[in-house]
Amino acid sequence: MPRVGVLALQGDVREHERALHSLGVDVARVRTPAQLDAVDALVMPGGESTAIAHLLVSAQLRPAIAARLDEGMPVLGTCAGLILVSREVLDGRVDQWSFEALDVSVRRNGYGRQLASFETTLRVRDVGNVHGVFIRAPKIEKVADDVEVLAKHDHGDGEHAVLVRQGRVWGCAFHPELTDDTRVHRLFVDAI
Ligand code: GLN
Repeated sequence: MPRVGVLALQGDVREHERALHSLGVDVARVRTPAQLDAVDALVMPGGESTAIAHLLVSAQLRPAIAARLDEGMPVLGTCAGLILVSREVLDGRVDQWSFEALDVSVRRNGYGRQLASFETTLRVRDVGNVHGVFIRAPKIEKVADDVEVLAKHDHGDGEHAVLVRQGRVWGCAFHPELTDDTRVHRLFVDAI
C-alpha cells in the first residue's frame, strides 16, 4: 500500500485522513519538506487557497512540492487544492500563485459565494453516482485536450468538468471527503 500524505496546513485535513484510513491506506500529515519526502502521493485539501498558498511558502513546501510534481508524484487537489494545482486561476488575488501542474483554468468561487454552496448527484466515470458537496467551489472553465474529464455538472450555465485527471495530477471541485463514500479517494489511490 502506498503512503499517502495529506497536506496539513489548513482546511479539511481530518476528513481526508478518515477517508484514506478507511481504505486501509498508510496516511501521514505533511507540514514540512521532510514529511513530504516520506510520502508517495499527496492530497491537497479544501480550505482557503490563499491561506494555504501563504503557509506553503512559509513552510518551505512550495519548492519541495513543485519538485515532487516535476518528478511525477501523484497529487489529488480538492476544492482549494484544485486551485493550487491548476495552471490558471481566474478571479484570484493579485498575488495568487499555483503549481500549474494541471492544465485547466479555474475560477475561484465560480459557483458563487457561501450562500451558493450546494449539493448534487454527479455521475462519475467508472464509479457511478456520487453525492457532490460544493462549498464556494472553483469552477473549471477550460481543460486542455489531454485532461480526462471524469465527471461534469451543469449548474444552469452549461456543463463544466468537476473531476479531472491529467496523468498523475487529479483535481476535484467538490468535497469527496465530506461524505462516507470513499470511491473518489479509491480511484486516486488505485492509480498511485
Ligand atoms: N473558495 C475557496 C478558495 O478560493 C475554496 C473553497 C473550498 O476549498 N471549500 O480557496
